[in-house]
Amino acid sequence: MTESKRVAVVTGASRGIGRAVAVALADAGCDVVVNFRTGREGAEETAKQIERKGVKAFLYQFDVSDPDDVSASFKGILEECGRIDILVNNAGITRDNIVVRMKLSEWEEVVRTNLTGVYLCSQAVIKPMLKQKWGRIINITSVVGFMGNAGQTNYTAAKAGIVGFTKSLARELASRNITVNAVAPGYIETDMTTALSDDVRSALVAQIPAGYVGKPEDVAHAVKFLASNEARYITGQVIHVNGGMYM
Ligand code: NDP
Repeated sequence: MTESKRVAVVTGASRGIGRAVAVALADAGCDVVVNFRTGREGAEETAKQIERKGVKAFLYQFDVSDPDDVSASFKGILEECGRIDILVNNAGITRDNIVVRMKLSEWEEVVRTNLTGVYLCSQAVIKPMLKQKWGRIINITSVVGFMGNAGQTNYTAAKAGIVGFTKSLARELASRNITVNAVAPGYIETDMTTALSDDVRSALVAQIPAGYVGKPEDVAHAVKFLASNEARYITGQVIHVNGGMYM
């Protein structure tokens, strides 16, 4: 099979890192399924950018944390596209609070979206990938899953959980030509981080040896590499993309 026939699914691709990943995979010749939860307009813009690369884009609205929604949507994707070769689990949210004040709902919402969502979407693609005897699952974790971050226990627990999930699933699938890896972005300029106050932002930049905030495309290049044939012998790994913030 040529790389141009591959189908990639990118969750949370209506903006930010997900959009950059979707466009980078289109650039590699993949048709791309653009998932979003609420941002249809953003997803349509992502689809436009994908189609400019001469490949197809498919929009799928579903909530990665809802088992029925995920199962019905992946069934639909398989029927429409015929195959799924690459899954990028990118969708994520934050509900920051210090533990002493954190509501159970804030904890559960973040863990359900950022960690359970990764399990549900991965489970949905394993059988087709086994049948195809080729697959790439790439999970977006975070630098704070390694360093910790006060006010983000829910988010960091989910992101650290993704790393354990990635390594275990990599072991389950390695002999079947399916690799499972993670990419851990540092501080990247997206809607998620523009919400930060100027003080928090300057304190964060001061921790980055490169001296500047990364772009979604910096993360997308690493994902594109892990999705390629050339990365076939890399599995169960985390690639850190953080300007040296954590080493
Ligand atoms: P954004 O907030 O800009 O975008 C998040 C995306 O996730 C949106 O497309 C949103 O869709 C989607 N999404 C959220 N919840 C769901 C859901 N339940 N089901 C489906 N889609 C959902 O985030 P970023 O681009 O900044 O982050 C992308 C990933 O990278 C996340 O996993 C994040 O944790 C991680 N990351 C980001 C860093 C950064 O500095 N920006 C640093 C480290 C990690 P919609 O708008 O349509 O609801």
